Amino acid sequence: MNELICTICGKPFTAKRSDRKYCSYECKLKSKRLAINKLRDQQAEESRRRSEQKNAEIRKQKERKEASRRRAEERDAYADELKYWEGVKREEFRFAKQEGKPSTLTVNGISVYDPDFEKKVIESGEVYGSYYGCFNDSFDFETGRRRKESKG
Ligand SMILES: [Zn+2]
Repeated sequence: MNELICTICGKPFTAKRSDRKYCSYECKLKSKRLAINKLRDQQAEESRRRSEQKNAEIRKQKERKEASRRRAEERDAYADELKYWEGVKREEFRFAKQEGKPSTLTVNGISVYDPDFEKKVIESGEVYGSYYGCFNDSFDFETGRRRKESKG
């Protein structure tokens, strides 16, 4: 006979075989239940991990979409600003031609004759946070057009 210790309840017991683990049928059943519970826990943990991964992936996708939407918005806003300043320039040139004298318009110190007028004005606007124009107050920033100067 072998003197053994039950791996479930910890009680000492005797058995003919030295590889017995449990003192009783009850402890053997309990061991099986524990094994099943452990497996169930592992599966639950695994499924929790998978759904966490999935959620993280969804979150990342959302962030990527949001970032690309923001970039598109910034591009659109920049394109709108370019269009606006191109309009200002076109209108100013048209007016200068009509007046028969060169334009004196500068925005944030940048001459309307500067070949990169629009880009430089937008850049300076980002730096200063505003646009400061010099053109005898005859320019309307809202419409991008010269105000009709009142005569007499
Ligand atoms: Zn036992």
